[in-house]
Amino acid sequence: MLDWIAFDADDTLWKNEETYLQGRAEFLEILQGYGLEASDIHKFDSFEVENIQYFGYGVMSFVLSMIEIAIQLTGEHIHPWDIQRIIQLGKRMLTAEVEVFPGVREVLGTLAAEYPLMLVTKGDLLHQERKFQDSGLREYFRALEVVSDKTPAVYRAILDRYGVLPERFLMIGNSLRSDVLPVLELGGWGLHLADHPTWSHEDDTLKEGVYQRYLEAAGIGDVLGVLENRGLLGDDRVD
Ligand SMILES: [Mg+2]
Repeated sequence: MLDWIAFDADDTLWKNEETYLQGRAEFLEILQGYGLEASDIHKFDSFEVENIQYFGYGVMSFVLSMIEIAIQLTGEHIHPWDIQRIIQLGKRMLTAEVEVFPGVREVLGTLAAEYPLMLVTKGDLLHQERKFQDSGLREYFRALEVVSDKTPAVYRAILDRYGVLPERFLMIGNSLRSDVLPVLELGGWGLHLADHPTWSHEDDTLKEGVYQRYLEAAGIGDVLGVLENRGLLGDDRVD
């Protein structure tokens, strides 16, 4: 029933959101030095989302957004030293150790024995390639696709490039909005990891009972069981 299985990376295979939460906390600390309150910084979230159209996803976009809002909120009084701190914060985020979730290797090892696996991730190209390398998970994957966004058109282009029919493609990820819904819309399979940490921008709602190829697991450790139950893996697999 499947020709390829694709995985998201950030917050699916390894920790990511935690790094951003720590980054936000440090940014708040810098701005508190200017008498700003935590409530002022909430503006940052909408600012960051607004900037995606210009800078895309990833740490570099996050850093530019922090600098831009710091200039605005301090009435252009932020000290160059603090801008330097924001840039250093970004560099630490870009070079942070990749922490793979427990159970990921077992899942990938089992699936890679039956299917070619693809990683589909959005963000800074250099950063995503480095994390892929540092994760030690490269051996399980036949393909890496770093994309600027995860829309149905982007998935369609990937499927065309690999010559895969949507109904024979499964995407697994923590984001309904980016990993699951666009693939379901094309007629593919989407498996949502419902309990993984997820940035609120990636939330979305699923219309109940509309998608026949929607699957859900609490976490990465439950993926094999869910696929076995649907006949996509193991002895009862349907080809
Ligand atoms: Mg993700």
